Amino acid sequence: MALVANKYQRLLLKISGETLGGAEGNGLNEEAIRDICQKIEEVYRLNYQIALVVGGGNIFRGNQSGLKDRTVADTIGMMATIINALTLEQYLANIGISSQVFTSMPVKSAQLFDHRKAIDCLDNNRIAIFGGGTGLPYFSTDTTSALRALEVNAQVILKATKVDGIYDSDPVKNKKAKRFATISYNEVLEKNLRVMDLTSISLCKDNKLPIIIFDINRPHSIKRVLEDKDQGSVICE
Ligand code: UDP
Repeated sequence: MALVANKYQRLLLKISGETLGGAEGNGLNEEAIRDICQKIEEVYRLNYQIALVVGGGNIFRGNQSGLKDRTVADTIGMMATIINALTLEQYLANIGISSQVFTSMPVKSAQLFDHRKAIDCLDNNRIAIFGGGTGLPYFSTDTTSALRALEVNAQVILKATKVDGIYDSDPVKNKKAKRFATISYNEVLEKNLRVMDLTSISLCKDNKLPIIIFDINRPHSIKRVLEDKDQGSVICE
């Protein structure tokens, strides 16, 4: 089944913080960041309009922090995503790609998120990077991806993961595990498949926004998934 070939012009790519942390998944790993920027560049040069949401798990996760006040913990987590967003902007600039960071809270060196300005940025072939999550505690950058994708009229979410799609059982433990080429929002919700958090799946379902789950670690992964040359799973109606 053709995943997406030539179907989408404006896409939202969700990268977890872990991706920027290399093998350990912690902190900022230069090689890992350069690798992800090269993969983004391949798609950018094909004239896709790219919006990026980056997580913060390589630095801080509010719900796993043990801090007593979850709202404060989540604020720290959101600030971690801004560190990642500004870092990505700088690495992209190093390879000649212009991008703009939009944040949910005021930060020097970034633009406060405004959907019209973000759309202008994309229309001008600059990458729009969304940092700071939704700006609200108890949410995640998965939900941020769904929200921002809808706000800037992206036609698809590409969710970068370590697995090449959604399986009916754990492919590491079960050699016969079957990968879904497509799966419905309802099935993901009913089976409680934690490929993205359920709030984000619900938001996508309500607005018929497709999500593609793919393995970011494969060579040329983003380009290949858009060319339908790599495996992945599409979540749709
Ligand atoms: N976060 C939040 N609200 C948001 C997005 C993120 O409070 O709208 C906080 C939350 O503490 C989360 C952290 O930021 O643990 C990092 O985001 P996330 O866990 O989604 O990052 P990822 O796992 O994708 O790296």
